[in-house]
Amino acid sequence: STINTTIQEGFAAAIRIFNLMDQESHIKEIAGADSLNISRGNIEFKNVSLSYDQDYSFALKNINLVIEPGTTTALVGPSGAGKSSCLNLIPRFYDPSGGSIEIDGQKIKNVTLESLRSCISLVSQEPKLFDVSIRENISYGNTNASYDEIVNASQSAAAHEFIMSLPDQYETVVGEKGYSLSGGQKQRISIARAFLRNAPILLLDEATSSLDNESEHLIQKAVKKLMQNRTTIVIAHRLSTIIDANKIAVLDQGTIVEMGSHEELIKKEGLY
Ligand code: ADP
Repeated sequence: STINTTIQEGFAAAIRIFNLMDQESHIKEIAGADSLNISRGNIEFKNVSLSYDQDYSFALKNINLVIEPGTTTALVGPSGAGKSSCLNLIPRFYDPSGGSIEIDGQKIKNVTLESLRSCISLVSQEPKLFDVSIRENISYGNTNASYDEIVNASQSAAAHEFIMSLPDQYETVVGEKGYSLSGGQKQRISIARAFLRNAPILLLDEATSSLDNESEHLIQKAVKKLMQNRTTIVIAHRLSTIIDANKIAVLDQGTIVEMGSHEELIKKEGLY
């Protein structure tokens, strides 16, 4: 009778899980899609618009933006301007309502999702950690990585030292959403994941939440290193990230209102 209770609970959970698994994605691959052939990692937005609610209102309008290979472009602007929407279009979490996005001259909607997403690392504000060991959380970036590669990635992300001070080191289980770790530690784990993944395109949503000075400094240093030789788009909140970017795009109400370097934009005395 005890087992029956457990089974019934399992059935109830399974029904909900299968409902979710059966959902069809809105994002479809075209028939016979090719793999993305990435050479330099040039990203181009061509007249991109986006409406989340079937053309009722536009989150993005006529976005034209070239992110040259190996450079960093910072997206700045008030809340609701469309910065996250721009970022979300690149791995095809959403498809544009108009216009197109190309990587190295190939329209991303014509390539396989697997090949597109395998060349992208995404470091978000809220790192998604699973209730497994730190080693497994980091290797989520590249499931074939060896232990040494995981340690190297952690060292680059300034995470190795704090991991070694934990009771079970790399085998420490982090708890649901990583609750046993501080905000700064979680971020460094997600940066280690991106180092391990070593993808040519980096999408970075800088954290707005305040960290202690030491964490802040370590994360800045690690992120700077991670950006090297990658095509990076960053939703930037820290002035130092913005100043260091090759190009800054200022968004407001779904359009790019100004673009240039820090000095150029300061001189303009516009929204920036
Ligand atoms: P930012 O990142 O600059 O704060 P967002 O790209 O998040 O701006 O938002 C741009 C606009 O799109 C806002 O009006 C926001 O409410 C809307 N929006 C963002 N995500 C969604 C979504 N998933 N569904 C519907 N509307 C959304």
